[in-house]
Amino acid sequence: MRILPAAAMVTALSGALLTGTALDGAAATKVNMESVVKAAQWDPYKSDESVTPGAGDSVKTVEEALAAKKLLDKKYVDGHFGSVTVKAYQKYQKSLGYTGLAASGFPGKGSLAKLGSGRYSLDHTITVGAKTSMNGKTVNKRTASMIKAAGKKSGMNFSLTQGSYNPGGVGGSAGTHDGGGVVDISVQNIGNRSKAVKALREVGFAAWERTPAQGFARHIHAVAISDTDMAPQAQAQVGDYFKGLNGLASHGKDDGPKVKKVTWEEYQRG
Ligand SMILES: [Zn+2]
Repeated sequence: MRILPAAAMVTALSGALLTGTALDGAAATKVNMESVVKAAQWDPYKSDESVTPGAGDSVKTVEEALAAKKLLDKKYVDGHFGSVTVKAYQKYQKSLGYTGLAASGFPGKGSLAKLGSGRYSLDHTITVGAKTSMNGKTVNKRTASMIKAAGKKSGMNFSLTQGSYNPGGVGGSAGTHDGGGVVDISVQNIGNRSKAVKALREVGFAAWERTPAQGFARHIHAVAISDTDMAPQAQAQVGDYFKGLNGLASHGKDDGPKVKKVTWEEYQRG
């Protein structure tokens, strides 16, 4: 038996202590859900592997959890929620028995919390709330609050012509209304359409006026950024919005008013 010199004893001891600390640290690791969801909408549509500002650490923690479950190759644990991470996350959702839009690879609160079991806990959680009715159209509570806030801001009374959770949709909406967070707003009683779109953007919608020249009956199409119930087609439109594009198949330049791009949660914090 070898007698450890005092210094080695201390090292061995602090090593043990550090192990204990690391375990406690793992449980205390926080994942910012708002950041992860924002990155999951934005990163897959980027032309590079850049990290969404403020989201890198939280995305990395989520990716480490996916890698630990052998769903993601370690080389993709980089803080960028790109298409490979989306696929891995989708596999995780399927492993939980989720189907359809709940297994699209877009993280919601339930799956993110489960994935974090023993590894991290969530803060800045997003809750979309129960389904409710607005002008006879179905939206979730988060979307309803956002529309009301934009109406108040602009002094306009927004009236919906199409709501969310509407598979099949109407008028060339190509699946965007299948999930949560997406509405079409009538322009009939709106004098200044640009002002309306601006107010919607300011509270956290990716919103655009759609026109006959684009092949639509004139209306405003709005996607509540970071609505965790949204369909992949709507996520792609949010990605386009962040990139300064119009969210159509043409991916043309954004033709709407310039605003600071925020989520509803960021808007509420001011
Ligand atoms: Zn629409």
